[in-house]
Amino acid sequence: MSVLAVHDVYKRYARGDREIAAVRGVSLSLDAGAFAAVVGPSGCGKSTLLHLCGAMDRPSQGEVSLEGRSLATLDDDHLTRIRRERVGFVFQFFNLLPTLTVAENIGLPLLLAGDRADTVTQSAATCAERVGLSHRLDHFPQQLSGGEAQRAAIARAIIHGPVLLIADEPTGNLDSDNGALVLDLLRELNTDAGVTVLMATHDASVAAGAALLVRMH
Ligand code: ADP
Repeated sequence: MSVLAVHDVYKRYARGDREIAAVRGVSLSLDAGAFAAVVGPSGCGKSTLLHLCGAMDRPSQGEVSLEGRSLATLDDDHLTRIRRERVGFVFQFFNLLPTLTVAENIGLPLLLAGDRADTVTQSAATCAERVGLSHRLDHFPQQLSGGEAQRAAIARAIIHGPVLLIADEPTGNLDSDNGALVLDLLRELNTDAGVTVLMATHDASVAAGAALLVRMH
């Protein structure tokens, strides 16, 4: 089954009186369980493409479909729901909230979705265990190493059971050992939980861990 289908997508931005095409005519298709890396030089449009794939933004032209449904005709509320329920995001700089504990950060998507506090706490503990952070539940983000922070961010990204996990340079702010651990974790989630992964990276050794390469120029 196709989880993500991108057909001839463009994203254009106005810059002064000029127009910048951040993404120009990209097509790709990911079946359930795929693990794909988007590679290419800085500024080639990787982040923009990922935002379009994750329903964070709309293309200027072309079509994005998630689980067989085109996003083009959906209103903003519907897109928000799809983003919250079907997609998980991991960012280069973790984006953990500094005033929340690790457990609270991980559980936030469920809390925002209206789940009961006790079930959120339980699910957050289960996800933390999955990424090897059970001993850090009551810590705050600034007390974590970079690798731990990214693992917490991954736990937050998967707590709601997304079908598509989008990771934008997930190892870009980590040393090579921690980067390898994070990549292993993404691969494990892909293999064991069957989450489809779309990851942008400019690191060839990280990209080599993906089964499918999308090259942007
Ligand atoms: P990458 O992730 O490969 O580094 P990006 O997707 O961040 O590339 O950016 C692609 C191009 O689009 C760059 O030239 C960038 O400056 C431009 N761009 C990205 N977002 C915006 C925006 N919101 N407004 C204007 N230009 C943008």
